[in-house]
Amino acid sequence: MLTDSKNKFQRGMVYLFAILASLVIAPFCVIRYLNGEIANAAVDLAIVMAALGSAIYTYRLGQATQLVSNITALLYSSGAVAVAHLNEPIYVFWLFPSLIANFFLLNATAALIANGLTIAAVLPIAIKLNTTTEAFAMVASLLMCGSMAYVFALLTHKQQLLLQGYANQDALTQLGNRRAMDEEMRLSIADCARNQTPATLIILDLDFFKMVNDKFGHTTGDDVLVDLAHLLTRRVRKTDRVFRFGGEEFVVLARNTHLADALVIAEQLRVQIEMELNDPDGALTASFGCAQLHIDETPEDWFIRADKAVYQAKQQGRNCVVAAE
Ligand code: GH3
Ligand code: MG
Ligand code: MG
Repeated sequence: MLTDSKNKFQRGMVYLFAILASLVIAPFCVIRYLNGEIANAAVDLAIVMAALGSAIYTYRLGQATQLVSNITALLYSSGAVAVAHLNEPIYVFWLFPSLIANFFLLNATAALIANGLTIAAVLPIAIKLNTTTEAFAMVASLLMCGSMAYVFALLTHKQQLLLQGYANQDALTQLGNRRAMDEEMRLSIADCARNQTPATLIILDLDFFKMVNDKFGHTTGDDVLVDLAHLLTRRVRKTDRVFRFGGEEFVVLARNTHLADALVIAEQLRVQIEMELNDPDGALTASFGCAQLHIDETPEDWFIRADKAVYQAKQQGRNCVVAAE
């Protein structure tokens, strides 16, 4: 999810830089070579080749790696510094896009360090300028550009975390939602395939919850769901994850847990709910289904087995725990 979208974003940046390098830097490379400025032409060529190489590697792999992003950032920063040193002081302007690019390619702290080093590397050029005012203007404008990009990167990161929260959280109970559950189930499946780590899914569905809404209204129903979320969060172990799958159906993903242990946990939760969860009429109950992950099982099949067990629990009179075959 976030990692997916972040990766897509970084991939886009690697491609964008390859296109920009081909369109903007490659012509310079040719012009400089024809002018006999071999060192400049070599720097330009190295940047273009590395940018294209990174893009092709990323395309073949299907995803951007941090290594490629690091190389791209290093390339642009050192290329800009080299161009500035090999030419007139005015060529320092190549640093501006590289200062901004670093924040897209690296995390904010790494970009800050890279930018500090980049600006430090052109200080000798600033010192050699005719007047102190010119030197000050050069360094100040670079620092301003770098700090503005830093603030922008921090804000973007904050917003990304916020959006990730909204995308993965149930608005009513603040528990993880179905999307978050799918992600955790996939992790458990991968862990089971790699290390044979067991995992058991506990699904619970409130009994006759429709009656709560019908009798006392939707707001009371919502309050009950929030109470249940608190109860579950308090009662499960630190390593377990609780989700609201939808409606009055909740899921506990008991990681590193065999079916027998999950049945004990489910039974404890069932008793706690019966004792603690109330509507104005009195105690509420829930029906439970438990399914331990089979090796090579898909998330869908795993969930369906646990859900069928809930259905059986309902058939058996509700307020009980059933294990999936
Ligand atoms: P069973 O014991 O068979 O599970 O009966 P039930 O009444 O709990 O099940 P049913 O599927 O018939 O009804 C579920 C009810 O849950 C229907 C709906 O009004 C209510 N519900 C679903 N989501 C919400 C919600 O977000 N807030 C409230 N207050 N009620 C909800
Ligand atoms: Mg129900
Ligand atoms: Mg239901």
